[in-house]
Amino acid sequence: EGNLIKTAAVTRHYGTEASLQKDEGTAEAKGYKGHDMLAPFTAGWQTTDLHPLVIERSEGPYVYDTNGTKYLDALAGLWSTALGGSEPRLVEAATKQLKTLPFYHSFWNRTTKPSLDLAKELIGMFTARKMGKVFFTNSGSEANDTQVKLVWYYNNALGRPNKKKFIARAKSYHGSTLIAASLSGLPALHNKFDLPAPFVLHTDCPHYWRFHQPGESEEDFATRLATNLENLILKEGPDTIAAFIAEPVMGAGGVIPPPATYFDKIQPILKKYDILLIADEVICAFGRLGTMFGCDKYGIKPDLVSMAKALSSAYQPIGAVLVSPEISDVIHSQSSKLGAFSHGFTYSGHPVACAVALEALKIYKERNILETVNSLAPRFQEGLKAYADSPIIGEIRGTGLIMGTEFVDNKSPNEPFPAEWGVGAIFGAECEKQGMLVRVAGDNIMLCPPFIMSHEELDMLIDRYGKALKGTEEKVK
Ligand code: PLP
Repeated sequence: EGNLIKTAAVTRHYGTEASLQKDEGTAEAKGYKGHDMLAPFTAGWQTTDLHPLVIERSEGPYVYDTNGTKYLDALAGLWSTALGGSEPRLVEAATKQLKTLPFYHSFWNRTTKPSLDLAKELIGMFTARKMGKVFFTNSGSEANDTQVKLVWYYNNALGRPNKKKFIARAKSYHGSTLIAASLSGLPALHNKFDLPAPFVLHTDCPHYWRFHQPGESEEDFATRLATNLENLILKEGPDTIAAFIAEPVMGAGGVIPPPATYFDKIQPILKKYDILLIADEVICAFGRLGTMFGCDKYGIKPDLVSMAKALSSAYQPIGAVLVSPEISDVIHSQSSKLGAFSHGFTYSGHPVACAVALEALKIYKERNILETVNSLAPRFQEGLKAYADSPIIGEIRGTGLIMGTEFVDNKSPNEPFPAEWGVGAIFGAECEKQGMLVRVAGDNIMLCPPFIMSHEELDMLIDRYGKALKGTEEKVK
C-alpha cells in the first residue's frame, strides 16, 4: 500500500469537481444544469447536479468558457485543431465556398471541384507508398467503417468470400460507430453494446513499459508480439483474415508509440499471408509526430489509410480514406460489373469541408508545419519528461507533439491506484484550476497541443502540468 492514503471522494467524471465550483452561481451555467443533450463519452449526464464546461470562444491555442475563464487547450480540441482556434484563412475558405456553392453531393458521377482538388492533393502528399484513390467521409469513425466495406468488397471481387476477419489491437481507438467501436480495443466501447462484432479479433497492445517481460528488450518485445500475431493468423486460418488495422502511435488508448522495430516485424507477416494493412492516421497525420504522416515515421507501407481531424484542423467535419491503386483497380473492375460501388454519405466530399481542408493543407505547407513541430517537440518532450521522477507517475511517453502520462503506485505498471481514488480525475481538475484542458481516461493523461503555440506558451503548458502534478501528489500522498 506504500504511503498512500485514500483521498477525499472525487467524482469520477473528469472535470466535474472544478466545473461545479466554477459554474456555481452564474445564471448562464445554471441554465445548462442537467442539460438536454445526450453528451458523447460523458459520465453522469443523466444527473441534474452536473454542470458542463461550456466553451464559447477560441483564440489561437486558448479556449474560453461562458464565464470568460481562459484555458490553454492542451488537447487541440479533440486531437484536432492543429492550427488553433482562430485561423482566419480557414474561416475565409469556408465563407467563400458557402457563398459560391454551400452544398452539392458527389453521388452518380456528379461532384464538386473542392472534393476533386482535395483528393488530388492528398494523393500527392502521401508518399509512404503510392496511393490510387480517395474516398471522403465526415469523420474518422466513418472512414474506418468504410475501410471494412472496401476490404470486403475487394475480397468478394477477388472470389475470396471467407477472407473477411479483421485484426486490431488491444487499447486501440478507431471510433465509435458499430464497426469502428468493434475494431477499437477498449472494453468501455464494447461493454453493454454487444460488441465487438464477431469478425473482429484483437491482438497484443504494443506497450513496452506495461507488457514487456523481465529482461526483454524493446526489439525482443516487438518480436514476441509479431510471433503472437502470426500465431493468431495461423490459428484462425490465413484465408479468413482480411486486414490488420493500426494507429502508428496509439492515441486515445494512452499515447503509446510502438516499440522499436514493431512495424518492421509486423509488415512482412501481413504480406506473407496476403493480409491488407490499414493505417489509422486520424490523429497522427499532418505533422503530429514530426513527419507528415505516422507512416513516414515508422516505415509503414499501408494498403489503406484513414484520416480526419487535422485534415481540416477540425474547422469542418471531414474524414478521408486513401486506397492503394491495386485495391482501387479491383473495386473499379468489380463495380463495372455490379453497376456501382454502393457506398457513400450525403456529405461525402462536402464542398465547404473540402475547401477548408484544402486551405489547411496549404497552410501546413506554406508555414512548413514539420519544421514548426520539430522545433517545439524537443522542448515539449523534455519539459514533460522532467517530471518522470514523480512518485505517482509510472511512465511519461510520446513523440512529436503528443504525450501521455500514466499514474501508478510505486512506479509499477502492475500497481494501479484504486479506481475510486480518481487520480487521473484529480490531475484533470488541477489542470483546469491552472487554466489548462487535457484528456483524462482513468489514470491516463493525454496531451496533444496545437502546432501554433509559441515557445513561451509551450513553457506555460509545461509549468501548468508541473503545478497540476504537485497538486495531485499532495492529494494522493
Ligand atoms: N481513429 C482514431 C485513431 C481516432 O483517434 C479517432 C478519434 O479520436 C477516430 C478514429 C474516430 O474519429 P471520429 O471521432 O472523427 O469519428
